[in-house]
Amino acid sequence: MGNVVLKQEMACRGPLILVTPEYPLRVRPGREQMQAPLRETPEILLAKEAKEALCALLAETGGEAEITGVSGFRTREEQEKIWEDSIRENGPAFTKKFVALPGHSEHETGLAIDLAKRQPGIDFICPEFPRDGSFGVFRDKLPRYGFIERYLEGKENITGIGAEPWHFRYVGFPHSAIIAERGMVLEEYIEFLKEGASLRKPYRYGGIAVFYVPLCGETEKAVCLPDAPCSVSGTNEGGFVITVWEDLP
Ligand SMILES: [Zn+2]
Repeated sequence: MGNVVLKQEMACRGPLILVTPEYPLRVRPGREQMQAPLRETPEILLAKEAKEALCALLAETGGEAEITGVSGFRTREEQEKIWEDSIRENGPAFTKKFVALPGHSEHETGLAIDLAKRQPGIDFICPEFPRDGSFGVFRDKLPRYGFIERYLEGKENITGIGAEPWHFRYVGFPHSAIIAERGMVLEEYIEFLKEGASLRKPYRYGGIAVFYVPLCGETEKAVCLPDAPCSVSGTNEGGFVITVWEDLP
């Protein structure tokens, strides 16, 4: 791929961006960039990459027979309304645990979706998504399609969000697989790459090399990438994750 200039504005875009209580979403995608992954709920939208991956995952695991969508892409205004309605109906403690602050929600990226078991009376904030049967099969296959279960039990102190077994986030392969195999949350994965995966000494997963490039407060940074297919994602916390498919011709 040769010399690539990584620019500041790219650092807050891409499937690996951290959108958390600490890091607000800086570049807002528009609704027109979103697509509907589910046949029965055309109002639920995702970014194209995430939509295609979810469609492929559902096609392999029984489709929409038992699984239904609850919430996908939200504008900042929609997130504000959900936040305010929940404060009114559920109180601040519950809301802070399960609803992200407007401007800090992964749903505003178009990379996250809440899914539920198909049944009457689905809870909008905390839908049920079991771990057994076809739901377990779906969960097992998530990493291969670039998705992770984003808010894990026991990691609440890192994510700042309560465990949400219904919230799935697209990060792309092989990141999803590395995160799942290591039992990490996205915050830990970015830290893991930052600490131990550089251009000189990448982390290797099969024939794929992954490394972190810090922007170090500069407006741009030139890196020389290997002559192989590469992808670049910002992390929204000051750097980039580069993925190189070394084994591909
Ligand atoms: Zn969610």
